[in-house]
Amino acid sequence: MERFIYENPTRLIFGQGMVKDQLVKQLKPYGKKVLLVYGGGSIKKNGLYDEVMTYLKEGEFSVSELAGVEPNPRLTTVHKGVDICKKENIDVLLAVGGGSVIDCTKAIAAGAKYDGDAWDLVTKKAPVEGALPFGTILTLAATGSEMNSGSVITNWETHEKYGWGSPFTFPKFSILDPHNTLTVPKNHTVYGIVDMMSHVFEQYFHKQDNTPLQEYLCEAVLKTVIEAAPALVENLDEYKKRETILYSGTIALNGMLQMGVRGDWASHNIEHAVSAVYDIPHAGGLAIIFPQWMRHHKKQGERKLVNLAVRVWGVDPKGKSNEQIAEEGIQRLEQFWTSIGAPSKLRDYDIDDQQIDSIADKAMVNGPFGNFNKLEKADVVEILQACL
Ligand code: NAP
Ligand code: FE
Repeated sequence: MERFIYENPTRLIFGQGMVKDQLVKQLKPYGKKVLLVYGGGSIKKNGLYDEVMTYLKEGEFSVSELAGVEPNPRLTTVHKGVDICKKENIDVLLAVGGGSVIDCTKAIAAGAKYDGDAWDLVTKKAPVEGALPFGTILTLAATGSEMNSGSVITNWETHEKYGWGSPFTFPKFSILDPHNTLTVPKNHTVYGIVDMMSHVFEQYFHKQDNTPLQEYLCEAVLKTVIEAAPALVENLDEYKKRETILYSGTIALNGMLQMGVRGDWASHNIEHAVSAVYDIPHAGGLAIIFPQWMRHHKKQGERKLVNLAVRVWGVDPKGKSNEQIAEEGIQRLEQFWTSIGAPSKLRDYDIDDQQIDSIADKAMVNGPFGNFNKLEKADVVEILQACL
């Protein structure tokens, strides 16, 4: 494996009743003026907004609000938040929502400490040199954004969507109460499951050798999710399954699985290019792209695809070639995602081959990509063609 230094400064606060017990205590050290950031209204419908406002009032915070963060958060919303922070001298931000709300909050927090356009930070034209402190209350199990420093922002004017991050954009704290995820509808529950599994796959496929623990850890997260997901999708009120899935989503992308390895991340890169052109859910795109990325790597990825097939999916290897075992594993993944209600082809979103070339160009903006195997434009086109 590679040398590494692991540090994750986010305080993870997990379990029932933790918002009530901890919110004021956790927020207090950072100041009095809070910018509450949230999405399109789910927290108003399920009562979490009222609950949070009650605690903030009890804690004597002064609260400004930025509502309406869209799924796949947009630069225009980041700009609005940065303006509020600068005009109102905000001390600390509180994101209440899913990955989109948290990612947007990260960009606002960094943008508030930068004199130019926050897009410079996302595109890495300017380094992130600071950020306002922020905490999160997570309402959707998926991205791991609650315990990592990454963020994905879309510029809808230029149709660009990029991931970025900095040591300054770890949440100071994140409060995860499975109760707050009980109202996530079926489609977003499924997308969350696909996203967290994809995060594990991205880190499972790497070039480093002698990484048995990293591989077993990845397989353990996958097996846990595969066991819990069908029952949860059947019965969205299953608290214990929500709890398992919520914890899994965090572990899948809080740095635990990628110590000493360099994950691939090509499928995420392709997905970002697709959803910069067509506004589809992040994990909807991943469910379509990842199996085809695996098929494209049957040779290079043979050992890992076979391990996934046998150890995670329970494929019986007897009398089969490695290639057959790998293919069976990929098919099991496709069947699993379809069985819980994920899309499997671009046509499920009415996407045809018209924009494939420009999507591939977008994905290639920084040259060949993927740490497990560098993809050239022709590879990206081939993978996308297989997704049609
Ligand atoms: P999301 O976009 O934050 O939320 C999806 C939908 O779920 C929204 O419509 C939201 O409604 C709703 N929702 C959230 N919590 C709910 C609840 N408790 N009850 C009912 N509805 C609820 O979904 P996400 O998958 O967490 O985030 C996706 C974004 O994260 C994408 O932009 C993706 O590129 C990015 N991403 C980031 C990372 C990272 O490490 N930072 C990793 C992977 C992906 P409201 O808007 O009304 O709240
Ligand atoms: Fe993701």
